[in-house]
Amino acid sequence: MATALITGASQGIGECIAKRLAKDGFDIAVNYYPSEANIEKAGKVAEACRSFGVKAEIFGADVSDFGQCAEMVKAVKEKFGTIDALVNNAGITKDTLLTLMTEEQYDQVIAVNQKSVFNMMKPVIKIMMKQKHGSIVNMASVAGLYGNAGQINYAASKAAIIGMTKSAAKEVGARNIRVNAVAPGLIKTPMTDVLTDEQKKNIFDRIALKRFGEVEEIATVVSFLLSDNASYITGQTIEISGGLEM
Ligand code: NAP
Repeated sequence: MATALITGASQGIGECIAKRLAKDGFDIAVNYYPSEANIEKAGKVAEACRSFGVKAEIFGADVSDFGQCAEMVKAVKEKFGTIDALVNNAGITKDTLLTLMTEEQYDQVIAVNQKSVFNMMKPVIKIMMKQKHGSIVNMASVAGLYGNAGQINYAASKAAIIGMTKSAAKEVGARNIRVNAVAPGLIKTPMTDVLTDEQKKNIFDRIALKRFGEVEEIATVVSFLLSDNASYITGQTIEISGGLEM
């Protein structure tokens, strides 16, 4: 049985990806940020995954911490035997204008969104190289492709992920490991629930499909990229934005 490890999978897009990959037949390693509340949420996600007849376990780790990522990857490998798919989904925002942004707000977003991708890909790719196969999907954003006012930290982290995806794909393609990214636009999650109606209307005016995306619409593309149906696709960033920019 193949195993998929999904970071930040206790809610939102990560939760939906975990359930979709369970439906696809992967055993699931649900990563969550270590907190009491998240243990319960991650536990429910794992339970939902098991309802598809696969194994699922929860693994607490702060993905911005290099050592915690290495420990988690070791634990997942020991529990399941292989790691065939990795989804680097965990992410945060600390939005404000550049002139108001603190150094801490900048550094936190870079650490959680961007450095985490290095922290996770390094130990997982070592395992995938020994296995001689594997597939990775990194969570970028349209902010990393086009920029967004008030998100200089977030846009920097997501643009970096696109470059990291291409670099890793070139390094490990010969080892039968594929590395791709998805760049969602505005998706209905707790992250976007906080927008006012006026903010939402302004956004819809710029989207060809005139609506937010659903988490399932991201999970479907991640599922495809991890599957053998995408066997000749690597180093790519697939935009899933309803036609935000064309
Ligand atoms: P979300 O609901 O806030 O989920 C993010 C998850 O990441 C949460 O479970 C969160 O845990 C976890 N996380 C945060 N920091 C972490 C850390 N240091 N270690 C481990 N886990 C951590 O957001 P979402 O909308 O599902 O976003 C998922 C990904 O999609 C993110 O990378 C985001 O940037 C990207 N994205 C989202 C949208 C959108 O419109 N929603 C658009 C483009 C890209 P806690 O709850 O404990 O913080």
